[in-house]
Amino acid sequence: MPPIRRLSDTTINRIAAGEVIERPAAAVKELVENALDAGAKRIEVILEGGGIQRIEIIDNGCGISAADLPLAVERHATSKLTDEALVRINTLGFRGEALPSIGAAARLTLISRPTGQDGACRIEVAGGQISDVSPSPGVRGTRAIVADLFYATPARRKFLRTPRAEGEAAARAVWRLALAAPHVAFRLVTDERVLFDLPAQDEAARVAALYGREAAAALMTLEATREDVQLRGLIGPASLSRATGHLQSFVVNGRPVQDPLLRMGLRLAYRDVIPAGRHPVAALWLTLPDEALDVNVHPAKTELRFADGNGVRSLMIGAIGRALERPVSLAMAPVASPASIRPSLPGFAPAPSTAARGFAERELSLAAAPQARSLAQTAPPAFAVPPAPTPEPAPAHPLGAPLAQILDTYVLAMAPDGALVIVDQHAAHERLTEERLRAEFTEGQIARQPLLVPVVVEFPPMEAARLLAETDVLARLGLEIEAFGPGAVLVRAVPAALRQPDAAGLLRDLAEQFAESEAPLALEAKLDAALARLACHRSIRAGRRLQAEEMSALLREMEATPRAGTCSHGRPTFLRLTRADLEKMFGRRG
Ligand code: ADP
Ligand code: MG
Repeated sequence: MPPIRRLSDTTINRIAAGEVIERPAAAVKELVENALDAGAKRIEVILEGGGIQRIEIIDNGCGISAADLPLAVERHATSKLTDEALVRINTLGFRGEALPSIGAAARLTLISRPTGQDGACRIEVAGGQISDVSPSPGVRGTRAIVADLFYATPARRKFLRTPRAEGEAAARAVWRLALAAPHVAFRLVTDERVLFDLPAQDEAARVAALYGREAAAALMTLEATREDVQLRGLIGPASLSRATGHLQSFVVNGRPVQDPLLRMGLRLAYRDVIPAGRHPVAALWLTLPDEALDVNVHPAKTELRFADGNGVRSLMIGAIGRALERPVSLAMAPVASPASIRPSLPGFAPAPSTAARGFAERELSLAAAPQARSLAQTAPPAFAVPPAPTPEPAPAHPLGAPLAQILDTYVLAMAPDGALVIVDQHAAHERLTEERLRAEFTEGQIARQPLLVPVVVEFPPMEAARLLAETDVLARLGLEIEAFGPGAVLVRAVPAALRQPDAAGLLRDLAEQFAESEAPLALEAKLDAALARLACHRSIRAGRRLQAEEMSALLREMEATPRAGTCSHGRPTFLRLTRADLEKMFGRRG
């Protein structure tokens, strides 16, 4: 075995870099945190090639003096940590590790001009080699430029994902920091596209800008205190649940975190109102005394240790629970408010031919009618009996003949063997639609239905871009979209099988679907997942009154469709209670 030796500083820095800077998002986070710690009132982030190629962060904070520049890039050198017991930490950084780590892994340039210094100075670090300080043009504040991330450590570079995935993670890091510091103006540009450009604003306005106006309109405010812990925030009603946890933000003492305890608390608070697999929308700010918090448990500082974790969790669960009980009308608001879908300008879309228009109109009004009717009924009775005499169940129809619909959600039927069949109409219809779409897709192309009036759907800034990147995939599914200014997407056509889907809800779900998978999905898998998502959007909603013929048609179609026993989420579409089951339930049998 060779003798033990000290590692060189360069190697030590590279090892540390692995802990702190594992991907572009981490570098972006550290640099923006530095800008916030420097008291910047305006921060601009420019990313190229997902941040792998280039990251530039410009701030108007206090700057770094020419004399301090070499120290700033030295390991464990910091101007921030005044309490070496690590208790009172009220800056985002404190380890003095970020800049040397970035300088070890990439080409780092700092150009800075503090207040009162004539002109700016620059320093460069590349692969751990530090340059001299030299004068440079520059205004007050600091510009940090990171180029060629991991060029010095090719082994790490291999672990990077596609520029798109890395760019998205980096944008998300900025998104979180922008929520943590709403009073600071933020601008984010990726590959020359402005993702957001926000003035200094209050928390609610920042949430509106970063969650999308539509989500923001439904959010409810929340405020609660327990001993010396204060919780503020905006939370969505249950109806606003999303396919991923992307619209969740936690800020603790000004620090954006992704802490498991807080995520779990949020999940528990919504446990009874949101189905498994869906995620609530929330932006929460916690303030507690420094002593009640240890921020030094994770190299990226995204996890915390609370002195009284249970207390924090009960505060959250209690406050959210109360807010969710509050306004019933709000909690039941439809996901897509009509105001958020504005028709595009007249003349924007090529007018469809008259024949096509007549057809489309007829289709649309037919599809819309039953829904309008069921909405008009204010106090529906709890069940509906088909007016016609109940047909006898035919042996060829194992799901039997419909008896009634109860709760506007379940169809009761009598099977040929006398068993009681209970069908979840929404789940069943979802599966039928998915199978129909799949069949169409296998045969070639899914039939498209051009929209009479294309709709514009607004998104939180990053989601529009993500969706537009999949334009080709969506086109194969019969969904035609195009860019419509920053953060908005224009929908021109939808799959015909969906009749009249809620385009906003549909696109939003798809955007999240594409985001959910961290690794880039194979086209096949992408199409597959998207198909299932589409199906949810054409299902007979639970809560829609069905006519006797509709119930019959549903049962017959289920019998003829593969996999009709479960919906696309794997839940059963129907239950069967046989004589034996009923006898057991009534205690007539052991
Ligand atoms: P830390 O933030 O933990 O102190 P860093 O390596 O991120 O460590 O930064 C080292 C030092 O460089 C900071 O303590 C700060 O004094 C200085 N610095 C870094 N970025 C900036 C900036 N944008 N504006 C002013 N000072 C900065
Ligand atoms: Mg720092």
